[in-house]
Amino acid sequence: MLFDPRPKEKREDMFDRDREFEELLRGMEEYPITILIGIRRVGKSSILKVALREYDGIGVYLDARRLYAAGGGTMSQSILVEELTRILAGKGRMGFLAGVKLERISLGGISIKPREATIIDVFELLNGIGERSGKVLLAFDEAQYLRFYGSRGGKDLLAGIAYAYDSLPNLGFVFTGSEVGLLHDFMGIDDYSSPLFGRVYDEVEVKPFTRELSEEFLWRGFKEVGLSVSRGDIQRAVDELDGIPGWLVEFGFNYWKKRNFQKALETTMAKARTMIKEELLELEKRSPRYPLILKAVAMGLSRWGVIRDYVEAKGGPITNARLASLLKNLEKMGWIRKENGEYRIIDPVVERILRG
Ligand code: ADP
Ligand code: MG
Repeated sequence: MLFDPRPKEKREDMFDRDREFEELLRGMEEYPITILIGIRRVGKSSILKVALREYDGIGVYLDARRLYAAGGGTMSQSILVEELTRILAGKGRMGFLAGVKLERISLGGISIKPREATIIDVFELLNGIGERSGKVLLAFDEAQYLRFYGSRGGKDLLAGIAYAYDSLPNLGFVFTGSEVGLLHDFMGIDDYSSPLFGRVYDEVEVKPFTRELSEEFLWRGFKEVGLSVSRGDIQRAVDELDGIPGWLVEFGFNYWKKRNFQKALETTMAKARTMIKEELLELEKRSPRYPLILKAVAMGLSRWGVIRDYVEAKGGPITNARLASLLKNLEKMGWIRKENGEYRIIDPVVERILRG
């Protein structure tokens, strides 16, 4: 169902995105590393999950954010190896990886004990499977969280991935990221000190729906649940919510349940407010000035000088260098974008909620 608010797993529950699927599947087949980028709620996890199901070989989905949370804010080799074993053992039950047990993996003449294994051992084993079954893919959703792997900003994992890149042709990686700049920084393709320096990878970008597609999406979704909704209501909804599928789905679902435009919109905005508040709290932990800057930008203070005035009025003095670095980070995290010297909030729903 198009209006199901969870990330989609099946192609028939997805609206459009043919180009993204095609590009992602091609990347998966042809490149050792493919990255899928786009702002929050645009549909990355859905596209990734569906593509992994459609992929011919074995694809393993890992949620880096969940791994990070499970480790209480860090991520260790043993957590990752354990999670991989658990997923592979699950796939084993489905019949095509019979040698995988939680206590021992024996496949194609290789045998390892997950408890004692390094991530490289697991990569080599997967590469061995890939030799027979076609390239094995490890897909890390919200991969910017892998920077919390080990104690060196994720470099230990990157070193393993670089080794796989150079020496294990039957193992591939997919990374998604809502915080595009952080993902790029983490991978460090342009950074001499990064293990992945200079490697070639494929990049697929997921954008919000255009105006036209947003309206068609709502129209199709309502049709699917047997509801006839006026063109005017659909247009008003898109005026308010723009083209981010996550908000459109939320609205469609609420309208379907409540049969009332105004109530559906209010419920959607209330849900959005809760989600965005949580995200702002996370940001505030990194710096209390982030929410102030976002608020300033949302209120239309788009230039450097007025942003600084606002932030200083609310939060005390700040140096130019510090403000510059906070603004740059907000860009990297996908909250704001800079155009012709002016800053803007990327997601109009976020903008409205910040304005209060
Ligand atoms: P992301 O991973 O980019 O944050 P998700 O894949 O979690 O985004 O999608 C956010 C919400 O939008 C989910 O409820 C999902 O079901 C819905 N969604 C995203 N893209 C589509 C699409 N093309 N068709 C239908 N629903 C979608
Ligand atoms: Mg996601």
